[in-house]
Formats: sequence, C-alpha cells, structure tokens
Amino acid sequence: MSDNSDNVSVRVAVRVRPLVQSEIERGCKDILDVIEDNEQIIIHSLGSKAFTFNYVLSSKSEQDQLYDRCVQPLIGNLFKGYNLTIMAYGQTGSGKTHSMGTAYSGAGQMGVIPRAISEIFDTVKDNFSIDFDITVSFMELYQEVLYDLLSGKPRDQCVVELREDPVKGILIPGLSELPVKSAEEVLAILQKGSAGRATGCTAMNSQSSRSHAIFTVNMSMTNKENRKEYKVSKLHLVDLAGSERPKKTGAVGSTFKEGVLINKGLFVLGNVISCLGDEKTQNGFIPYRDSNLTRLLKDSLGGNSITLMIACVSPADYNIDETLSTLRYADRARKI
Ligand code: ADP
Ligand code: MG
Repeated sequence: MSDNSDNVSVRVAVRVRPLVQSEIERGCKDILDVIEDNEQIIIHSLGSKAFTFNYVLSSKSEQDQLYDRCVQPLIGNLFKGYNLTIMAYGQTGSGKTHSMGTAYSGAGQMGVIPRAISEIFDTVKDNFSIDFDITVSFMELYQEVLYDLLSGKPRDQCVVELREDPVKGILIPGLSELPVKSAEEVLAILQKGSAGRATGCTAMNSQSSRSHAIFTVNMSMTNKENRKEYKVSKLHLVDLAGSERPKKTGAVGSTFKEGVLINKGLFVLGNVISCLGDEKTQNGFIPYRDSNLTRLLKDSLGGNSITLMIACVSPADYNIDETLSTLRYADRARKI
C-alpha cells in the first residue's frame, strides 16, 4: 500500500451528493452535516447521529477530490501485483454512476473510472523496463445472470457463466477480454459498453439501477530483463445495484422479485466484507459462494487485495431511511 494505512484492506468513503434541482424546487431539506476534518457525517433530524469513515466528502466535493483523496493513493498497488476493487454503493439516485463515471460520454467532470484508466496508462508509458499486457472486460449482473457487455451480440446472446476452477479460481468462459494499448481505447470501450446496459422502469428512476455493472482491467507485467519475473493484478470498478428496499420503488410482481434478488447480492457482499474484518473468521469461512456478485469478486476481496467502498448518499430529508441504511452498511464494512 502506498500510503500510511498499510494494514487496512477495506476502506470506506462516504460521498454526499448535492440536492438536485427537482428536490430544491420541492422544498426538500438537507439533513446531513459533514465535518471533513474529522471524516464525520451527522444526520440532524435523528438527534444528531454521527458516523465516522475513512473519508467523508461533502456535497460540495468535486470529482477530482474524490479521485485524488480516495482512489489515487491505491492505484500504485496494481503495479506491485495487488488486486484492487473500487465499488459504489447506495440507493438509486445517490450518485453511484456519477462518482464512478460508469456512463462515460467524454463530457462533464470525469468520474473514477476514466481517471483511474488515465493514471494506469500514464504509469505504463513511463515504465520502460516492463512489458505490459492489459485487457478489459465489462459485465452486467442482473437477477444473478451475468451479461458480457462487450460481446457485440444481442443481449439474449451475451449471457456468460461463472465457473470455479480449483487452481485458477473464477473463470468466465467466452467472456470478451479486449487487449488495450491506450487510455483512449479503454474509454471508447467503456462508452460503448455502458450504452448496452439494461434499462428498466421503476417509480424511482427510469434508467435501470437494478443491476451491478463491473468494469475490469487485467494487467500482466513481465520484466523485460528477466522474463521469469512476472506479476498479474486486477482492478474491478463496480457500480452496484441500487440498495433501496423493493417497497420504495413502488414495484410489484416480477419487479419486486428483481429487487429481492439484487438485495441478496448486496446482502451477501455485506456479510463477506464483515467476515473479512472479523478476526474470528479471518482464516475461516467466508460466504463468497452465496451470490454471483461475491463469487465474481472473490479473488479481489480479502487476502492480498484492497477494497474501497464509496457509499453514496442523498442529503434530502425524504431519503433519510435509505441514507441511514447506507451509512449503517458502510459502517459495518469500515469496522475491518
Ligand atoms: P445512481 O447511479 O446512484 O442512481 P446517479 O449517479 O445517476 O445516481 O446520480 C443521480 C443524479 O444526481 C444525476 O442527475 C447526477 O448527475 C446527480 N449527481 C449525483 N452525484 C452528484 C454530485 N456529486 N454532484 C452533482 N450532481 C450529482
Ligand atoms: Mg446509476
């Protein structure tokens, strides 16, 4: 690890988004206070309930602050052979996609993904002693079904399966892993892939937020002078499904089932992260296999890998239940 918290494998950043225009027009109140110096967030209407995290970013925080403070210090670990997972958690509309930059269009203030990609290729360009092989893949996990967003095929033909190999770990036969040589190339792939993400309607958001989007950068590094010196690492950038409970989306029937299934992935993820931090289970059983999300991230959660959870919250009074639930989830992850 390249900063001063060497032994911390999971970090939690909480980011508050500003009130959006429609909320201001409706007269919503901002119920959150951020004390940045203390990395503390306070919910006022709840008897000033306070939470502390590794990083707390206020509604005034810009994209570069999120990246420079929380993400940039971790990127160097990839070049040392560590796996890194950066994921955004939070209810629909809380700023996950904005913060991650998953829906890349080249316009506006870039989120985490394009910044991380640029940084990786800047480092690669400056390194003359190592041969780099870099590939990217982009998947969507929806109702426990995994889709390859880069296959170029119609949606019903881009389903891929997770396999577990006792030696190689998780394998996804047929998944597109595109070799890339430049940041520009990766960003074009990201843009194309995100355009293919599932869309579905709920009362809360017309864009689908009920799937997990997983953008992965695989790096292999060979020392040019001594080709036996070889390292691999993996960066997962995950825009998680909305964490709201199904009832809030106003969904019924099969849509309700979707909500339940998605929450299962987030639920298991919470359990896995919590087990990783519990000394009693440190070398014991971790329930990775209970959901496809955690099976997929298995080799990048725990062990020698580093995880950053960006918990996104809305400051608006009407979202208080979901905000509190996100802060509690993030708090459980932080206790690691
Ligand atoms: P989610 O992916 O969690 O559903 P989005 O990222 O789509 O949420 O954000 C919802 C809305 O709020 C979008 O219009 C987005 O532009 C806006 N938004 C989110 N976070 C911020 C922020 N930090 N600053 C400004 N606008 C934001
Ligand atoms: Mg989103």
